[in-house]
Amino acid sequence: HADIALHRSKEMGRGNFHFYQRSLERHAYDLLLLERELHLAVERQEFILLYQPKLSIKTGHLAGMEALIRWNSPRLGQVSPQEFITLAEENGLIVPIGEWVLYRACEQIQRWQQEGFPPVTVAVNLSARQFLQTNLVQTVRQVLETTQVSPEYLELEITETIAIQNVELTQVILQELREMGVKIALDDFGMGYSSLAYLKNFPLNALKIDRSFVQDITTQLSDRAIASAIVTLGRGLGMKIVAEGVETAEQMQILSELDCDEIQGYWLSPARPGEALGEIYQRIADSQPQLPGRMGQQA
Ligand code: C2E
Ligand code: MG
Ligand code: MG
Ligand code: MG
Repeated sequence: HADIALHRSKEMGRGNFHFYQRSLERHAYDLLLLERELHLAVERQEFILLYQPKLSIKTGHLAGMEALIRWNSPRLGQVSPQEFITLAEENGLIVPIGEWVLYRACEQIQRWQQEGFPPVTVAVNLSARQFLQTNLVQTVRQVLETTQVSPEYLELEITETIAIQNVELTQVILQELREMGVKIALDDFGMGYSSLAYLKNFPLNALKIDRSFVQDITTQLSDRAIASAIVTLGRGLGMKIVAEGVETAEQMQILSELDCDEIQGYWLSPARPGEALGEIYQRIADSQPQLPGRMGQQA
């Protein structure tokens, strides 16, 4: 295996774990290596959380943050969450990782508050296994208690993939979380095996329009039609609509015309460390003249 190993280490030497990122043909060897490193990463706490802001188009205020995990492996470099979360989901490591994410995000909410910032809602992504196969409600309750965070400042993002696996159980868990006061968002909406029927039975606060519909929204009428339909649907069900992956002011303009509530994406900011909250508020203040409806209001 000497030549294979050498090839790998050259790939890794670049600091980015590209090898896995374009790994439609993942080899058993790669998986074993990744898996071993992931176990160590959990032990050694090699993860960090970054936070990406959401902006209310209507008020121009910070609408909340989404916590996004990062793994900077000393041996593999940056491994994309898509890659290692999928593996962690398969091998069960998502349970301790997911719990760590919940604790960390709530600790950050508390820290920001201690630093004198107005309360910020933080959204945490959940994976299917974490949602359906652990006592999530109990864990969330415990995390909120330990960190002394008020439930309304925690939002949980689930996906249609979770929902379709077990509709009844999903509904029960969501109901319990909502009764606790925690918020729920449906992530990547439109990408899954959307069954619209369950939407009316799920107590959701927000729908997140998947980035794939936002990407070409300025040129593709079909994407615009889909985004528009999602807004109408969510609005009718009393949900807030968030567009993800907004990279340009033009995309934001159209989403604003479609009556979308919030945007998230590189146009505003990529995910940043918790320490950058002050800079994010500054960035939001600087963005005000560019917001739809405020355009041209500034002399
Ligand atoms: P997601 O929850 O849909 O998160 C949005 C992803 O899009 C993030 O990628 C974010 O960095 C990226 N993004 C944000 N704005 C833009 C933009 O304007 N353009 C483009 N091209 N991309 C943008 P990231 O951080 O790599 O995360 C990928 C996925 O991994 C997430 O998708 C989520 O499903 C999962 N994930 C991330 N952190 C966690 C976590 O703590 N727990 C779980 N279970 N899953 C996580
Ligand atoms: Mg998300
Ligand atoms: Mg998303
Ligand atoms: Mg997405």
